[in-house]
Amino acid sequence: MQTQTEQLLEKKMSFESFGLRPEILRAVAEKKYTIPTPIQEKAIPLVLAGKDLVGCAQTGTGKTAAFALPILHRLQGTPWKGAGRRPIRVLVLTPTRELASQIAESFGAYGKHTTLKHATVFGGVNQGPQAQALRRGIDILVATPGRLLDLMSQGLVQLRTVETFVLDEADRMLDMGFIHDIRRVIDQLPAKRQTLFFSATMPREIQGLADTILRDPVRVAVTPVATPAEAVEQRVHYVEKSEKIKLLKHLLDGPAIKNALVFTRTKHGADAVTRQLERYQVRAEAIHGNKSQNAREKALASFKRGATRVLVATDIAARGLDIVDLSHVVNFDLPNEPESYVHRIGRTGRAGASGIALSFCSFDERPFLADIERLIRKHLPVAEDSTYRSGYGAGTPTDLDPRHAHGAGALSQVHPGMPGHQGKHDASGTRPDGRPGRSRRESKWTPGFGASKPAARHSEHRRAEW
Ligand code: AMP
Repeated sequence: MQTQTEQLLEKKMSFESFGLRPEILRAVAEKKYTIPTPIQEKAIPLVLAGKDLVGCAQTGTGKTAAFALPILHRLQGTPWKGAGRRPIRVLVLTPTRELASQIAESFGAYGKHTTLKHATVFGGVNQGPQAQALRRGIDILVATPGRLLDLMSQGLVQLRTVETFVLDEADRMLDMGFIHDIRRVIDQLPAKRQTLFFSATMPREIQGLADTILRDPVRVAVTPVATPAEAVEQRVHYVEKSEKIKLLKHLLDGPAIKNALVFTRTKHGADAVTRQLERYQVRAEAIHGNKSQNAREKALASFKRGATRVLVATDIAARGLDIVDLSHVVNFDLPNEPESYVHRIGRTGRAGASGIALSFCSFDERPFLADIERLIRKHLPVAEDSTYRSGYGAGTPTDLDPRHAHGAGALSQVHPGMPGHQGKHDASGTRPDGRPGRSRRESKWTPGFGASKPAARHSEHRRAEW
């Protein structure tokens, strides 16, 4: 017998309690979701109530269902009754092709028992099938900005009828230089609409964009980006560049790694690691922006199937990848932006599963490690496996107190003369070694929302990577 409290708890925590339509609840049950994730619990009632929303949540928190379920509910409850082909009533804008495909797949799965139709448009592939789907008429359009604008300019997409606009991964959009494209798209949307705005981080620029496109929004924040999933066990290997591939091979030879997503900083690096792994007879494939859409989808599918054991990716290509059952994330190169570390390791340990994140840190990457440790506010344990350990020994523990990081004293915890460290806090925005650093403007931060420190953004560098 359940107690009254248990019954109440159960009621509160179920998808039924949102009052979603039965055809949607059926699809949710088929996906085997029983308990809404925190972002779903918070956002679904607000979206159902027609509110504008700023959601500070990264991929992996269940945010797609948080907006897709209430959207599907509303559309299905108010079907288009006009003559002619159905108008686009929902537009979801997302930065990458992979994310667009995944979001569309989710709309397909959650809406499979509804009569609603959706389509996806993104660049890098022939527009023919996309144009055809648009001509047939769809309720929901999931798009990346460039291709959407192309199709709009050809008169194939009309946005006048959009009732709900979802801007997904807004911070990434800005990083990738999409701000003008986004504004051009928004100009074509009706002023009276519901807007749902999602971003993993909320730096000032993103906040500014949100302020201009949302009306009286409700804010919902879950698992700030500075907090990696609890379920992810993290370790650092101090290893020099030339030994990294051998260490990776050594670890792959052991039984612990079932499958691994390996991150490199550059596309070139991803290809090189893949080639070397193949030489070692490890089944590996690379995904990055130089690969065709088809090649990337095939590589991802083969990895998900288990046919490929290692997927090597750059940050942007891997952004938002939804890989259930990923045992390890390996940071072959440490990211130069600490937030990317959190995004990367969030690919494992999803939905309550456990996962392991291994970071390979060479001598010149130690400042990046310090940045990461300050962001997540803890020291990464050093891996016990000492094979291929760096000749420089382990690093001195990072001073996690960010107050110290503003003066010269901040350097006491890293090797003096470490390239590129001190300049990070140089208001000129340039590191002593001439590399771009964090600018004064970027160092302003809106406290209390999202991550705990400003994001160092090097958009031009990132775009070059993609
Ligand atoms: P997302 O953040 O939307 O990319 O979702 C991350 C992953 O969580 C996807 O694999 C979803 O299928 C899964 N997911 C979403 N909502 C739930 C839920 N309530 N229970 C279990 N898994 C979920």
